[in-house]
Amino acid sequence: MHLIFNKLNIHSVVHNFNSGPSILPKEVFEQASQSILNFNNSGLSILEIGHRTPLFQAVVDEAIATARELMQLDAEHEILFLHGGASTQFFQIPMNLLNENETAAYLDCGIWGTKAAKEAKVFGNVEIVASSKDKNYTYIPKDYVLPAGAKYFHCTSNNTVEGTQMHALPDTDIPLVADMSSDILSRVIDFNRYDLIYAGAQKNIGAAGVNLVIVKKDLLGKVSRKLPSMMDYRQHIEAGSLLNTPPVFAVYVCMLTLRWLKQQGGIPAIEKLNDEKAALLYDTLDSLPVFRPTVAKEDRSKMNVVFVMDNPDLEKEFLSLCKDNGMVGIKGYRTVGGFRASLYNALPLASVRALTGLMKDFANKKA
Ligand SMILES: *Cc1c(COP(=O)(O)O)cnc(C)c1O
Repeated sequence: MHLIFNKLNIHSVVHNFNSGPSILPKEVFEQASQSILNFNNSGLSILEIGHRTPLFQAVVDEAIATARELMQLDAEHEILFLHGGASTQFFQIPMNLLNENETAAYLDCGIWGTKAAKEAKVFGNVEIVASSKDKNYTYIPKDYVLPAGAKYFHCTSNNTVEGTQMHALPDTDIPLVADMSSDILSRVIDFNRYDLIYAGAQKNIGAAGVNLVIVKKDLLGKVSRKLPSMMDYRQHIEAGSLLNTPPVFAVYVCMLTLRWLKQQGGIPAIEKLNDEKAALLYDTLDSLPVFRPTVAKEDRSKMNVVFVMDNPDLEKEFLSLCKDNGMVGIKGYRTVGGFRASLYNALPLASVRALTGLMKDFANKKA
């Protein structure tokens, strides 16, 4: 929620429901702005300091330490900040973990998981253990069998586009790999249960241009192919995420967001708020027949809420009402249609109240 001042200095409120890049805490925007002019009273901009200076080392150290503390990661798990967005992890993971004659298991729950599987096929065998494509990815498949001997099982914890979220994991000894781009740090889970976690920063962690990667050390060094240095997790671990020039500003924004989350009371506190926001929106949707949530109830995402209306004219009308009321980023993904409201950590409850208020007014008028 931001206050925008127009030329007459009359402010209006913007509610940012963007799916990514998306809303970050106001305090983070303020500090990040300040750092461009004068970083930590150094007289220098964050954009002009060397990445191997003590000034920036302190940023990386705090980002890693805070991430470790928030997620309660054990010493076996390394934390990396890497380039290339989540899409680079789609191929960096199989490159590091999968030999050509080996098989990895993938759960196909949406467009991001589909892309991840496609990239993995470049490096080895991929077995799609289950897919919800038959119903437009509106649910999470549950009863599937993982192939014995699979090198890892890849899943997407939250399907940003389709609005589903995994609320349970298969019971397996196969190493777990998860794309958590759109729900990392939003709910309490056992992060140590995963062997590799990755997340593009631009949804819940910070600015676009960097990835958070968490990897268990004993998973690495087992493929026979040669790896380019920049693709090799072990070299990044050794270099402390400073193998080459990192996206300095993006890492700094991550550090600020992680610091903010810690100040809010960490993941348990933000989960409580996230639960409240999601409950308010879903309860409103369920109570107003004009709106129809698309996802199976037990698989609903608390981060990305997807809904439609059965009348396309009404959809257009509601969309323009949202626009008039300062709601940004509410239009659904092009392949899904309808609406998608993203409720990431930094979105205040007041924004959800504003949206649900508008929905009720709209439904009353159409009743
Ligand atoms: C946004 C998103 C991606 C893509 O991230 P990029 O940083 O653009 O590569 C991948 N997976 C999920 C679940 C996402 O939400």
